[in-house]
Amino acid sequence: MIEVLREGPYAVLFWKMPKVNVLNADSVSAFREAVENLLTDSAIKGIVISSRNREFLAGADLETIQALVTAEDPRAIYAASWQVQEAFLRVETGGKPVVAAINGSALGGGYELALACHHRISIQNPSIEIGLPETTLGLMPGGGGTQRLPRKIGLVSALELILEGKRLRPIEAKETGLIEELVEKPDTLLEKALDWLRAHPQASNPWLDPRYRLPGGAVYSPTNAQVFAAAIARLREKTYGHYPGLEYCLSAIYEGLQLPFAEGLRIESQYFAKTLSTRTAKAMVRTLFMERQRLLNLPHRPKEVAPASIQKVVVLGAGMMGRAIAYVCASAGYETWVKDTSEAALSQAQHFATSLVEKAVGRGRLAPEEGKNLLARLHFTLQYTDLAEADLAIEAVFEDRAIKTQVYQEVLPYLKPQGILASNTSTLPITGLAEAAGISPRFIGLHFFSPAERMPLLEIILGKETSAQTLAWALDFAQRIQKVPMVVRDSRGFFTSRVFGTYVREGLRMLMEGVPPALIENLGRQAGMPVGPLALADEVSISLMYSILRQTEADLGISLHEDPVSPIGKLFVEELHRPGRKAGAGFYEYPSDGRRKYLWPDLSKFFPPRPISQEVYPELKDRFLYVQVAEALRTLREGVLLEQADGDVGSILGWGFAPFTGGVFHFISWVGEATFRRRAQELAEKYGPRFSVV
Ligand code: NAD
Repeated sequence: MIEVLREGPYAVLFWKMPKVNVLNADSVSAFREAVENLLTDSAIKGIVISSRNREFLAGADLETIQALVTAEDPRAIYAASWQVQEAFLRVETGGKPVVAAINGSALGGGYELALACHHRISIQNPSIEIGLPETTLGLMPGGGGTQRLPRKIGLVSALELILEGKRLRPIEAKETGLIEELVEKPDTLLEKALDWLRAHPQASNPWLDPRYRLPGGAVYSPTNAQVFAAAIARLREKTYGHYPGLEYCLSAIYEGLQLPFAEGLRIESQYFAKTLSTRTAKAMVRTLFMERQRLLNLPHRPKEVAPASIQKVVVLGAGMMGRAIAYVCASAGYETWVKDTSEAALSQAQHFATSLVEKAVGRGRLAPEEGKNLLARLHFTLQYTDLAEADLAIEAVFEDRAIKTQVYQEVLPYLKPQGILASNTSTLPITGLAEAAGISPRFIGLHFFSPAERMPLLEIILGKETSAQTLAWALDFAQRIQKVPMVVRDSRGFFTSRVFGTYVREGLRMLMEGVPPALIENLGRQAGMPVGPLALADEVSISLMYSILRQTEADLGISLHEDPVSPIGKLFVEELHRPGRKAGAGFYEYPSDGRRKYLWPDLSKFFPPRPISQEVYPELKDRFLYVQVAEALRTLREGVLLEQADGDVGSILGWGFAPFTGGVFHFISWVGEATFRRRAQELAEKYGPRFSVV
């Protein structure tokens, strides 16, 4: 687990676990023992800590975190955190200089160990990530991070990094003060670290000196008190109190920084135990850690199919989605061809890729050479002949069945005999498109989310006749482009569009009921959604929702006049010509002078607001979440999902369904099954069967 190499009077201690370097009870005690041996060996004058694996050191492993969040007794959580604190404190106060030689990512507990050292040197490699991302999982640092980082870099930067769980690349980490040195060449890392030891025979961290003062003064000094006041306000604005772990984290910092350092560590461990005992931490760890990891292991991949052999990817349509999908493919190393009928669209797509690469290189997130190679793998064309020998074609043209069908006919001759064809449609049933293409077994849905270069989920939709090989290739592709894949069976709107559409519709209904628009938006966010339903309608575009509704009516030969999209689409698209954000006008106004968007003031003319008493707010918030859960349960009953927990991951990663609840199904146990059923029934009786869960 730990290897020790002697270099004259110095020792290099390497983390070297069989798969990944992680913190767990065994590895922490092995590390502690190795450190102890070196500290008590009078021949050793200083220590370098590094790793033989790809990563420097990750945080706690899956099993440890799961055991902690399910522990009955918070004292067990405290004890686990304290074991780590003691080990790191020993590194810091053992009387010998210690350098962290960061050869790979140092996240969470890994970076906390580096913080306990007296100096940090990292390889300048943009794939390395450094930081304390615990809060993004509903957790908080428990290895000294909340105590050492503010003392090291000051409150303002530390609060931002910890509360937002930011991961920095080495260049950014150096600029922010998380590390002190960078080396360009990996093979000079250890030599640099040893040089530092030679030059610093006595090293200690400043916060251990009794005369140490926090940068900016005590936490309650006029400057720092303001920093906390602003942090509390910002936290409230962003989270509406849904994430107790963030508040505990802030408390640990505020209280711990008023005490001697070692006492601060105890405070941190206490709040760590408190945080991990919350139902929010349990829910988030379960879905965003365990279940997400399960999906990354491709549980639905047909085992008998050999690994996909995809070299050339073709993206049809260079619009908002196509250009981003192409960028993602080229980033993953695929030779990627983008085909459109519009030269302007192609040149915009090219510009899009170039500016993303420039930004990433500028921020140290991508090596300049890699950026160049990425762009060299991206090709833009108006000609089908350039697409010859494609292994995978992803169609992202207009959401129009006739255009899509024509594109399939045109591209098919250029696909390799084994090649597969995928549609990025957000709503059209895949089986129908597959039949139109005439290659049903080799056809599949690959539903990306916007902005595709950032959104982590890929919804993979099986047509009735999609073959095992096609599914396996789609999953291998998802893994290669580093998206979390969820596999669903065909249905109109699949899983994601269908469920999150109910959230938008609930907002439209409220608008029609006379709930003031600003209240609708604020209550949507207070319920835990990342954006209000009207803002979301503008993003998706009212015209797209309206045309999907019309298409559905035509396909099924029914009238959907009770759907709120019907009257609102007619009004906004046909009469007011306010189709959404892309057009600069929808429920919101989008000033061209760079001011922030604001709700269109004339909304009140069309939807006269009525006074809403505050007592009704909880019910409005419940409507937003319950309507989604009820629809999700319907998709489950219809067999759209292969596994229920897939929907939890998909709902959070796909459209940001209240993450603190653990997702759209886990919501039920988060609320409590009996309470959930009672409330759903009340809402169904009052507002209609869309809330029915039986
Ligand atoms: P878009 O209007 O931005 O882009 C469509 C592109 O297709 C245009 O550049 C157009 O020139 C091109 N095109 C049209 N006919 C073509 C043809 N015959 N051959 C080649 N190119 C052609 O649309 P978008 O928002 O990128 O959506 C594309 C698809 O992705 C749609 O099916 C949509 O439902 C789906 N989708 C959209 C989102 C979203 O948030 N916008 C999310 C997921 C999926």
